[in-house]
Amino acid sequence: MEKIVSLCKRRGFIFQSSEIYGGLNGFWDYGPLGAELKRNIKECWWRSMTQLRDDVVGLDASIIMHPKIWEASGHTSTFSDLMVDCLLTKKRFRADQVEPQSGTAYFYTGVTDGTGAKESKDAFSVLIATGKHAEYARKVARQFYQQRGIENPALLGERTEEVKDSTRYNPENGGLLTEPRPFNLMLKTYVGPVESEDNKSYLRPETAQAIFVQFKNVLDVSRQRVPFGVCQIGKAFRNEINPRNFTFRSREFEQMELEFFIRPDEVIQKMTGAVALLSDPQPSTLNPQPTWGWELWHKYWVEQRIKWYESIGLGRDTLVEYWQKKDDLAHYAKATVDILFKFPFGTQELEGIAARGNFDLMQHQKFSGKSMEYFDEEAKAKYVPHVIEPSAGVDRLALALICNAYCEDQAPDEKGKLESRVVMKFHPRIAPIKVAVFPLLKNKPALVEKAKAVRDLLRPHMSVFYDEAGAIGRRYRRQDEAGTPFGVTVDFDTLGEKGPELRDTVTLRDRDTMKQERVKIGELVSMLLERIR
Ligand code: ATP
Repeated sequence: MEKIVSLCKRRGFIFQSSEIYGGLNGFWDYGPLGAELKRNIKECWWRSMTQLRDDVVGLDASIIMHPKIWEASGHTSTFSDLMVDCLLTKKRFRADQVEPQSGTAYFYTGVTDGTGAKESKDAFSVLIATGKHAEYARKVARQFYQQRGIENPALLGERTEEVKDSTRYNPENGGLLTEPRPFNLMLKTYVGPVESEDNKSYLRPETAQAIFVQFKNVLDVSRQRVPFGVCQIGKAFRNEINPRNFTFRSREFEQMELEFFIRPDEVIQKMTGAVALLSDPQPSTLNPQPTWGWELWHKYWVEQRIKWYESIGLGRDTLVEYWQKKDDLAHYAKATVDILFKFPFGTQELEGIAARGNFDLMQHQKFSGKSMEYFDEEAKAKYVPHVIEPSAGVDRLALALICNAYCEDQAPDEKGKLESRVVMKFHPRIAPIKVAVFPLLKNKPALVEKAKAVRDLLRPHMSVFYDEAGAIGRRYRRQDEAGTPFGVTVDFDTLGEKGPELRDTVTLRDRDTMKQERVKIGELVSMLLERIR
């Protein structure tokens, strides 16, 4: 990870937000290459959802919405993580992320200050490794009581107990943590000139709710019929207790979410006589069928999403399909599959695909008083649609793609001597720059002019980087690090100096194999477009 983080800064993929002011924990900026990478991810997703299908339409909703939305969705009351604080340093942890500790716990019932003038009856305890000197625990305990205003604390009631796998102590200093208590993750703000309770609002913690509340409007204008979906890409904000693992857990991030509305199983049962189930022998999960209930639609979307990850270079071997256990599911969810990626810091969630029943639409119907019912002409039935929700994070995916692309291998330098190179093996579809154009030499005007003409030829079709500075090997290396899949070099053959048959041809270099082929300039656009689409 260290190498990846440093490459991200050095090459301009990701910078710390507000860096010159010391940074802001949980916020990140994307530099020139990172910005292109993110755009490509979003464009690929959008294209796969809207352009390549006829049953999904898009939405671009506001970040701040009516606060009642978050009451209806349950975010105001339940969107919280349990947190604990270190009683000594006040450092805050997510309760489920405290590393379990074993050792000897030293318990104290309180202290006096020696003169008897001051005392504290606050209980405190410290966990230290078994065999470590008791004095260490006492020192930590004294610090705790000193912070409570007792300068020379004499510890009272010391007793010890062997403890196994406890998450009640700060792994960094052994000090006791507070009892876990919920902490709402929504970021608050005020809308309008008065900072009153009535004007309190939230930055959306997910993009999905806007889709539910605009369900009827989209339905009215798009001429879609259930089953169909509405998708959205946009910023979301969560006041995460512990932002960590680089951009993996941030406080501001982007989501790509689809709400795919389907018929309730009862309606399908009535229409077709039987609902197809995942447990049926050899159920099709590829081509949607009118007999599909929520189970098969859910599995279908899991498959579709994994295929999409494959299409941008994340092989199935880098992903894990994790079916959440029944006990872990949210009360309204019928099933949830997480797609996990094998990050260098552990196998972690990229996307969640949930079968959410009709919980969200029903909640908004209840809270807004507006009907969310849909009349299905084909089924001759009125119902509130159910939904399958694939919900992915753009930033997590960008990080996964960067981790997946990072490679170190050997490449020959100018003189043919092998040297190690860092190469970002991005799939051409998402690579920030698609092709680099180089004149062999900078000081030969005819080469420079021709190379610039090639750049101008390619530019309307793809992102091109023109580079004439330094030895050609160095220029290749720079593009390898940026993950540019193709390099075009204009040399003396291009000018026809070795005979007319090579005139107007260039070398096309492949980043991964480093192989070079001779290509006609006139064929470059179509050849490259084919390889980057
Ligand atoms: P986690 O359990 O990791 O907090 P979650 O299950 O709460 O995630 P969802 O609410 O399902 O996440 O959000 C959908 C997607 O949004 C996640 O799969 C992830 O890609 C992205 N996401 C959620 N929280 C963050 C975050 N703090 N930083 C970056 N991406 C996030």
